[in-house]
Amino acid sequence: MRLIMLGAPGAGKGTQAKILSEEYSIPHISTGDIFRYNIQKKTALGTTAAKYIDDGILVPDDITLKLIVDRLEQEDCKNGFILDGFPRTIHQANMLDRHMSEGNMNIDMVIFISITHETAEKRITSRMVCKNCGASYNAIHRKPKIENVCDICGSEVIKRKDDNLDIILERLKTYEKETAPLISYYEKQGKIEKIYGQTTIEETTKRVLEALKKL
Ligand SMILES: [Zn+2]
Repeated sequence: MRLIMLGAPGAGKGTQAKILSEEYSIPHISTGDIFRYNIQKKTALGTTAAKYIDDGILVPDDITLKLIVDRLEQEDCKNGFILDGFPRTIHQANMLDRHMSEGNMNIDMVIFISITHETAEKRITSRMVCKNCGASYNAIHRKPKIENVCDICGSEVIKRKDDNLDIILERLKTYEKETAPLISYYEKQGKIEKIYGQTTIEETTKRVLEALKKL
């Protein structure tokens, strides 16, 4: 089962991808994780990507694609995978399609979790994260049991630095301009499943699992 998760920042793509990954025993592949892993391990591609990131420049598509392809070729992906954060532009989607067809493979379904702009803004501004273990919390619906203390490791839970309003609005604008066009791109391929995401994590999961029965 080869899936792509699509949706605005705050839609819950990562959360749902993690749940599906356990449900179907296929890896959850997030672009953020791949970048972090390769930069930490100082791989050739990771070092190149780090230079762009340090300069505040978007990593060029061909480097991102190589990192993704590298990951997709690993043994644990042979029964499928869930892509989260890639593709994020039509150009990247074209590149991915080309790569997949060269390997006689197909994306089976694109799960688009739909939320309003207002919900996206509200959800991202309330995100919090543990300074030590990276566990994520939310000031609205997933507070730590003790205020600002991580349930898992007891360290301090803080607001994410890149979650201030200006940066969020900029990210939402970029999403609308560059990523939202992917909805009609995959619609034309008959692969989009639109999931109503203005609800709880559990309810969204239920809807996603229902949609996946069609495969
Ligand atoms: Zn923690």
